[in-house]
Amino acid sequence: MALPTHLQLEIVTPDRALVREEVDEVQLPGAEGYLGVLPGHTPLLVTLAVGELWYRIGQETHYLAIADGFGEVLPDRVTVLAQVAERAEDIDVGRAEAARKRAEERLNRAADIDTERARVALLKSIIRSQVASRARTRV
Ligand code: ATP
Repeated sequence: MALPTHLQLEIVTPDRALVREEVDEVQLPGAEGYLGVLPGHTPLLVTLAVGELWYRIGQETHYLAIADGFGEVLPDRVTVLAQVAERAEDIDVGRAEAARKRAEERLNRAADIDTERARVALLKSIIRSQVASRARTRV
């Protein structure tokens, strides 16, 4: 059987179907590290961490911020189910900065706070700022 030449990418959150595209390459923010996927990849399931997802169509690369999800990789298809997914150009940088300040203040106050929750909030805000800057610079 011939190897597939493209990947059908779907990114879905509880609210919406965000991406449905035929792409050349995808990078997923796996819990164990970033995972690059090209057509013909071995099938696998991957738990997704808070991180940056990108996909490439020809010379164009598109960036998203992702949090909490699963990815299914098949030779001709990548499906992402994520609690949160935002395209770089849709990210509100001011909101992400405010969330970052709140999380940093909580972590600095120590005692009596849910440290893990504050740490995840901080990470999400950092990833949102990073992904948003990709839209501005078109890396
Ligand atoms: P905040 O503290 O600013 O509400 P959060 O990390 O608690 O951020 P989430 O619970 O992850 O927010 O997301 C709630 C909804 O708000 C989701 O639909 C998410 O896509 C959206 N959202 C959160 N932050 C931003 C942002 N900076 N830009 C665009 N959308 C955002």
